[in-house]
Amino acid sequence: MPESKIKTETELPRRRYDDVVAGTHELDKIGISVKAHKLLKQLLKENGKLEEIMRDSSNEVEALVGVKNWIEGLLEDSPEALNYYKNERQGRKAFESLQWRDYAAIRLLDYIKNAGREFEDLNLRGALAISNPLKMIWLAVHRGTGGAKPEFFENMIQLFRQLGGADERKPPSRERLEAWMERWPSGLDPRIIQLRQENKERILNVIIDRMDKKEISSVSFKFAPGLSREQKYLQALEWWNDSHFHLSFAVRSPDLVNEMLGHSLDPDTMKMLYRAEKAGIPFFVNPYYLSLLHVRVPYFAIGADLAIRDYVIYSKQLIEEFGHIVAWEKEDKVEPGKPNAAGWLLPTHNNVHRRYPEVAILIPDTVGRACGGLCQSCQRMYDFQSGHLNFDLERLQPKETWPEKLQRLMEYFENDSQLRDILITGGDALMSSDHSLKEVLDAIYQMAVRKIEANKSRKDGEKYAHLVRVRLGTRLPVYIPQRITDALVKILSEFKTRAAKIGVRQFLVQTHFESPMEVTPEARDGIRKLVAAGWTITNQHVLTTASSRRGHTAKLRQVLNEIGVLGYYTFTVKGYMENQHNFATNARAVQEQMEEKVFGVVPEKYHARIRRFPLEAETMVESIREVRQAAGLPFLATDRNILNLPGVGKSLTFRVIGITRYGRRILEFDHDPTRRHSPIIHKMGKVVIIESKPISEYLRHLAEMGEDISEYASIWGYSMGATEPRMPIYEYPEYDFKVTDEITNLQIA
Ligand code: SF4
Repeated sequence: MPESKIKTETELPRRRYDDVVAGTHELDKIGISVKAHKLLKQLLKENGKLEEIMRDSSNEVEALVGVKNWIEGLLEDSPEALNYYKNERQGRKAFESLQWRDYAAIRLLDYIKNAGREFEDLNLRGALAISNPLKMIWLAVHRGTGGAKPEFFENMIQLFRQLGGADERKPPSRERLEAWMERWPSGLDPRIIQLRQENKERILNVIIDRMDKKEISSVSFKFAPGLSREQKYLQALEWWNDSHFHLSFAVRSPDLVNEMLGHSLDPDTMKMLYRAEKAGIPFFVNPYYLSLLHVRVPYFAIGADLAIRDYVIYSKQLIEEFGHIVAWEKEDKVEPGKPNAAGWLLPTHNNVHRRYPEVAILIPDTVGRACGGLCQSCQRMYDFQSGHLNFDLERLQPKETWPEKLQRLMEYFENDSQLRDILITGGDALMSSDHSLKEVLDAIYQMAVRKIEANKSRKDGEKYAHLVRVRLGTRLPVYIPQRITDALVKILSEFKTRAAKIGVRQFLVQTHFESPMEVTPEARDGIRKLVAAGWTITNQHVLTTASSRRGHTAKLRQVLNEIGVLGYYTFTVKGYMENQHNFATNARAVQEQMEEKVFGVVPEKYHARIRRFPLEAETMVESIREVRQAAGLPFLATDRNILNLPGVGKSLTFRVIGITRYGRRILEFDHDPTRRHSPIIHKMGKVVIIESKPISEYLRHLAEMGEDISEYASIWGYSMGATEPRMPIYEYPEYDFKVTDEITNLQIA
């Protein structure tokens, strides 16, 4: 959307979000609905003690004190839980030792401790939300008011069931998990391969028709005059193997998407897509990726492509919010000469992102700023609002000034005392041409050599960190695996050979598979080539609603392991209301970790073995298989479930401390204590996130996808998390010298 069309912040939200506090006192007077009343009755009927406290309290403060005394009394038998509540016991081990009932008791005490706190709700464009759940129950009991919604009472019923022991957690068995995993075919299933052949044929025929009618064209892909239809088809089949073909013929309009999908999109979806187009949300779906969507849905794969579909077909919430989306990452906002939110001084305002002392993200001024598609949940939707990143691949060609700028960026890295890990990304690192990528890799190599040289004159304890890890962030192995050509692999392989000689030990390609259905023969072959070049391939999965269905993520881990890819992160969807459709709650992220991923936890006795994985990356497929077989694991759980928090970094250490009237949870996060942060972390405190979706709505969404929501019943109880330990594969190698304690490029007021 052009800037002029972006609506002003002063406009009121358009939807039903009545948990916004326009005036708290007025809201307290709002009567609750019949359904909410019935749920309240059920809550009180199931909890005699709660009813007694509520009825005997003459005001909400008495109710709060009554519940507090009751819960503290219960926790007298559970001193460890009480200490956890008081933060006197912390960390993963302490978290794992908590009983199911403790979660509920701690949540209630947190509700009470935070009663009346006001929060800026960025889901509602900054409106204030107040959490005071026990007051809402008291108002509902005594006056039938308080404005709490049925979703709020559903949450409360589940909370008190957990407290009273009526809801016991029954973790699934391994057999159950495997049955869930069986539901999700992979793109390597011969029946799926056959379906995709049909899709490819249809898409190519549409392209040929449109080219014949001169409705679409490309400078690089033209038919020679006089070719028969069959010859054209054979020619197009060859083009299919060229990544440029997929970029040139990427679909940019809803009508063409629908035509390529055999007119299978229903009218409501089409209406949405037209609205998205009108709102200025770019379309960019390449033919290969589009061919992964089912048109003819076979009985064995019903709903299997949903995680892909939900990345391509925009949601109502995204369309409504586009123009109002606020930036999630504070560190990404950089003013020249001023430190970013994490305190780092950066060489330019748009080429380096930085949060941690050891790592810098490098974004070249190349086509690498674009991607091979546009993922609906991408945080860059914020940038797309201003129209300057809208897949104008011509405009993104590197400018003449780029080589000079690249040198300036390298000087920054060279003179940084702590930096040891560079992640080249964009957009997408592999969207850059081979030439541009080689140029960046060469510059990094030269910089690393100069850094080593400069260190020779520094004393032990004053030396700067050497470069030990280089990473490429790319989704092209998924969006357009044809990009992984022999020429690209040669560049990567040669870089690795050279850089390994000067002490760079880890070479990682970080990709982003969302679904086992994205693991196609083309993707597998591309990954094989990267593995053969000695690069370690890791995956960053985003836990969307569709991909959070039982067993889906576990199956993805397994299928990826089989082609030599290791899990790195499983991210909760970032962002606010614009991503509500794809948002799977953090409770689901913890549930997935505790009930599904847990079957792949690598026993400690194999840690030394997997630590060596990146050093023998060429044999990754065999190495993973060997450890899986020896340990009897369905997959290697090498990824951490995590939320990328504004300012604080990646963490899943949180407690639910409040709830809105609409039942949306309010979470307080702490940073991950197991990794080094900028010293600014000690000034930052905790980060509060209000989720965009109540659990009941998430479950309804799953039900609409045909899920049996009784399989998710324990989700209500997961109101806390503790960040998992990082796997040894991902630890930095040790230096044989002592790095200085000085931190350069940092400015903390
Ligand atoms: S590949 Fe990554 S950066 Fe590109 S659109 Fe998808 S999520 Fe965003």
